[in-house]
Amino acid sequence: MAVNVNEDVVDVVIVGAGFAGIYTAIHATKEALSVVGIDAASDVGGTWFWNRYPGARCDVESIDYSFSFDEELQQQWRWTERYATQPEILGYLNHVADRYNVRDHYRFGERLTEAVWNESSHVWQVTTENGLTLLCRWLVMASGSLSQPVLPPIRGLDSFDGEILMTAAWPEKDPDLRGKKIGLIGTGSSGIQALPHLADEAEAIVVYQRTANYSIPAFHWELDGQQWQEAQANYGERRRVSWNSLAGSPWTSHPTPFHDASKEERESVFEDFWTKGGVLFAKAFSGLTADPDINAAATDFFLKKLANIVDDPQTLVDLTPKDQPLGAKRICTDSGYYECFNRKNVELVNLPSDPIVSIGPDGVTTQSGFHQHDVLVFATGFDALTGALTAPTIRGRGNRLLRAQWQDGVTTFLGMGIPGFPNLLSLNGPGSPSVLSNMALTSEQQGRFALDLIHYCDRHGFSSAEARADTAAEWTEDNANRANSTFFGSASSWYTGANIEGKAREFLPFIGGFRPYIEACDSVSETGYAGFLLSNTSANRVRTDPHGSGQVPPRKENY
Ligand code: NAP
Repeated sequence: MAVNVNEDVVDVVIVGAGFAGIYTAIHATKEALSVVGIDAASDVGGTWFWNRYPGARCDVESIDYSFSFDEELQQQWRWTERYATQPEILGYLNHVADRYNVRDHYRFGERLTEAVWNESSHVWQVTTENGLTLLCRWLVMASGSLSQPVLPPIRGLDSFDGEILMTAAWPEKDPDLRGKKIGLIGTGSSGIQALPHLADEAEAIVVYQRTANYSIPAFHWELDGQQWQEAQANYGERRRVSWNSLAGSPWTSHPTPFHDASKEERESVFEDFWTKGGVLFAKAFSGLTADPDINAAATDFFLKKLANIVDDPQTLVDLTPKDQPLGAKRICTDSGYYECFNRKNVELVNLPSDPIVSIGPDGVTTQSGFHQHDVLVFATGFDALTGALTAPTIRGRGNRLLRAQWQDGVTTFLGMGIPGFPNLLSLNGPGSPSVLSNMALTSEQQGRFALDLIHYCDRHGFSSAEARADTAAEWTEDNANRANSTFFGSASSWYTGANIEGKAREFLPFIGGFRPYIEACDSVSETGYAGFLLSNTSANRVRTDPHGSGQVPPRKENY
């Protein structure tokens, strides 16, 4: 459908061209909705457009981390490795964009700066940094859970004369790092993935570690012809299991509960899940991230593995995680990370005992001395889940500002609806499973829910849908209670906003599991979107539902 962007009120503006934006654009246009997408990047890809640092790959297996809605696409696209690299995932998303002419509906190089809700016309006015103005009935924020990178304000950073790189905004033309003296700041998933590749290039690299993380080898391999054929033949079943799982992938915990297993069985299960690789280790026994005994046993196992890799005793002490239980922060997935610290050109600076004093033109001064650098690489994380929603000025009903509304804490209904912000649907936002699940599948589910809500409103003559404050408060409180019954809730992590100074401390993603979340969403849609206030421009705040009750559906016990 051709759209005159300056004059028409389009049905949907989609912010973001990653998995969620692409899915929503494909299906909205197929379902006869007019769509304009915007993205700050010059092309599709979302997180995979920006995070093109050396070593970047997904920690969900490639055959799971892809769209499931198109069987032909699923069979045609050939993944070459167990965990896909960033170039391969970006290639895949470009292929999907080509296949469905997604780019026809997008304006690239357009960063959202402002969105304002017009209460009388029920239309959002959306403005970009370049001054593009769009009018739309529905604003779908598919702007990413980890898309607002953070560059820490370290004293003297502006005075550095060398090159400053960020893993989350890596240049499209790979910088030449051969023979350089690099400082790598940050040892989360990105820094841990990048180090082996940077160390191969650099003359010398100093790793500045603020908190030692748990990192587990990926056990990565190339998918040979037979493995690929088997994967293709089993795709349907694998997807069925994934859609019914707690995290959107087919892996489940060992069937015998930890407390019923013998010492030998426990050891063999940990070994088995260790070799499954990366984050899958946390699935070894159900309850590993909530039960102190299981967690302690898993940690012991991890520490024995670590001690077998790292040669230098002090480096081993410094690399040993001390601040968080295993799995409370996102487990990192690596390929040769700890081994790097046995190399002559890699040095670890443990910031808790040797903090950075300042950065100068030639390098970094820590309490114990000076380190010369030509390049500083920041792998310092993101303002996760809320950052992409609070960076632009988003004004809802009564001119309320989203950033201000969330100053002391985030409240959403299903992660998608925000009280006071009608017709704004945030995909993979705080309160949804997002980063705790397979983002490819959860993006499909979120996009589908958003489009179904739009169609429902259109069919029933409603021009606006807004999450009810009471329902959203209940949803949010329930998630907090769930998180607090595990180690996740109290951890200092980006899941809880602890990595951003001044950010409210709360557990942001929905922790009740992917399948239970889908069931919660389904029961909302099946009851006429109870939990949302539906209205039209001529009648004030009319609640509808086909069963006439207007009540929120009863909560299912399993979410
Ligand atoms: P991150 O996990 O937040 O790690 C940021 C790192 O920077 C941490 O080590 C942090 O230390 C450090 N840091 C922050 N500010 C600092 C400062 N002022 N001085 C020194 N160190 C500082 O970010 P990330 O590594 O980009 O990963 C974020 C998430 O993205 C991951 O958890 C994962 O979900 C996703 N991701 C996935 C993959 C994959 O699929 N394999 C790869 C990359 C990213 P503290 O721990 O002390 O805060």
